[in-house]
Amino acid sequence: MERYRVKPGDKVDLDKWDSQDTGAYQGNKSDGKDRLEELTAELEELQELLFAENKHKVLVVLQGMDTSGKDGVIRHVFEGVNPQGVRVAGFKVPTPQELAHDYFWRVHQQVPGNGEIVIFNRSHYEDVLVVRVHGLVPPARWKKRYDQINAFEKMLAEEGTTILKFFLHVDPEEQRQRLLARLDDPSKHWKFNPGDLKERERWGEYQQAYEDALGKTSTAWAPWYIVPANKKWYRNLVIASVLVETLKGFDMKLEAQLEDVPGLKAQLGGSSD
Ligand code: AMP
Ligand code: MG
Repeated sequence: MERYRVKPGDKVDLDKWDSQDTGAYQGNKSDGKDRLEELTAELEELQELLFAENKHKVLVVLQGMDTSGKDGVIRHVFEGVNPQGVRVAGFKVPTPQELAHDYFWRVHQQVPGNGEIVIFNRSHYEDVLVVRVHGLVPPARWKKRYDQINAFEKMLAEEGTTILKFFLHVDPEEQRQRLLARLDDPSKHWKFNPGDLKERERWGEYQQAYEDALGKTSTAWAPWYIVPANKKWYRNLVIASVLVETLKGFDMKLEAQLEDVPGLKAQLGGSSD
């Protein structure tokens, strides 16, 4: 999955990243889904361990255009995990109170604590994406934010947070199909926001904003992955793989912590059957 990681300092041209890619699976959905099942089972166990060990903090950032699958990743990749140790924080249009503060204010409160995985459904990156595209603050302000974001994420990392960032890369035709599917299915109408069509018109500007964000903020301590996301199963598989690899790298173990186990057992009236 290394090939989807943006190397620090790289310039990103999204046209060169194939949103249709299915890697070694070459479009073989059924093999891909089998592998995904294995990975989600592994993730389930690793998350349990992470929670029990209560040592590592994991922050997963999901970004992408409307319909790119942020909600789908949360549903499918994390379906087996224990809700006690996993939390989703979504970032919408800021409230007046949030707007009255700096843009990290609402974000910092939501970062993970020990033993926790937190998934950001959108994030502080909106402050160099939608904010830039719509000119919600002057360029002189958003241009400074890449360095600020790197510094903020570096602080989190140095204080023990592992950060993984995923950009779900779909192309405009795939988005068109997904929006049409939402219109065709009344049970999906709630997901259709007519305002999304206005954003769609600014596809090129968003791609540019994403290219800058991905290029300027993929760091050793908080890398971006550009996830080919036209195929939902492959998108899920890439993210699950990166997560499993990362958690495995923690080399977590549950060590015996209790002294005098025989004594404690004696207090319970001896051995179990
Ligand atoms: P959704 O994720 O579809 O529920 O939509 C949330 C909306 O909130 C998106 O249109 C985002 O662009 C918008 N949003 C999130 N953060 C910000 C922000 N900092 N400033 C302005 N709009 C934002
Ligand atoms: Mg939306």
